[in-house]
Amino acid sequence: MLTTVAAFDRIGEENAFAVLARATTLAAQGRDIINLGIGQPDFRTPEHIVEAAVKALKDGQHGYTPSVGIQPLREAVARDLHKRFDVEVDPGLVMIMPGGKVTMYAAILLFGEPGAEILYPDPGFPIYRSMIEYTGATPIPVPIREENGFAFSAEETLALITPKTRLLIINSPANPTGGVTPKAEIDKLVKGLADHPHVALMSDEIYDQFLFDGERHQTLLAYPEIRDRLILLNGWSKTYAMTGWRLGYSIWPQALYDKVRKLSVNAWSCVNAATQYAGIAALEGPQEPVAAMLAEFDKRRRLVVEGLNALPGVTCAKPKGAFYAFPNVSRTGWTSAKALASALLEDAGVATIGGPDFGVHGEGYIRLSYANSAENIARALERMGAFLSERK
Ligand code: PLP
Repeated sequence: MLTTVAAFDRIGEENAFAVLARATTLAAQGRDIINLGIGQPDFRTPEHIVEAAVKALKDGQHGYTPSVGIQPLREAVARDLHKRFDVEVDPGLVMIMPGGKVTMYAAILLFGEPGAEILYPDPGFPIYRSMIEYTGATPIPVPIREENGFAFSAEETLALITPKTRLLIINSPANPTGGVTPKAEIDKLVKGLADHPHVALMSDEIYDQFLFDGERHQTLLAYPEIRDRLILLNGWSKTYAMTGWRLGYSIWPQALYDKVRKLSVNAWSCVNAATQYAGIAALEGPQEPVAAMLAEFDKRRRLVVEGLNALPGVTCAKPKGAFYAFPNVSRTGWTSAKALASALLEDAGVATIGGPDFGVHGEGYIRLSYANSAENIARALERMGAFLSERK
């Protein structure tokens, strides 16, 4: 890795934050902006979780914790994974992180260097590519295609592996497409990876509870044959509406765990103690608030998809997961999806993200987060309809 100013110049950004800033500026100027840009639940963190943090603070939990996280939280993570997926996880391999993002940062730092190749989904979460470029490694996009239900194709992914490949990043349910990779395809991928023992895997499962139409999550933890090279990313941000708390976790192979522990000691020391106690309350407390939030997301998903398909030139496949719709806008008359997203914000007051912000294969699409009220979604669709009828 090149720890130079030039390397920092290669770091990219998450355009969702820039869109949020612009939307906030326009709103401050008195414009009525409907934000379908940002990827965070519009729900409050459930009350019992907030109370657990307040209690921890009042009880005097004000100091550093072990860098890998407090033991009861690591045990709660292992229990939760066992309960939901019937998988065995050693709490000693669980690392508590300040958000899910930090796991990808650590994983990519571990494997990225000039000459190495790292495979990542395109369109996909933009930080994958940004961090790969920072390390000097070569980013190799794995195309995620609409005609394939926005799922990974095991065959296409495996065909991109070379002797230089060090890490494969997968994400299901996926941002920005809402795609879910079926179990059969994951089975095939894992089977194929047996021929490539030099490739590590990072599975970003942060949306693992955001599944609709009876879909079930297939965790990569369920495959013992790859556990010695699997990094699992997950966290509280989305499931418990805790994006601003900065709480995530990862499961590491034994051989990597201590390396990442040292990085954490050097870089962030630990997650603040009160938040970690809130994390225990989230996993072990009532899950009804999660179910209620998911039911609401499902309603909005139907509304968004139906509304989008009624817009001129727009088609939208029904996403099976996450809380995003990724409509195809290539027949609207707009050849640049980024220009369309920008015009929608400036002229129609609807914030979305252009597909190319998620990779080259995102051209022709925009991302709408349906983390907004049904009423606002309906208003946004109306505005988009009027805009697209006038401006081609
Ligand atoms: N992974 C994916 C696919 C995401 O969409 C996000 C957030 O948008 C993250 C990871 C990061 O989550 P966190 O807020 O916990 O860092």
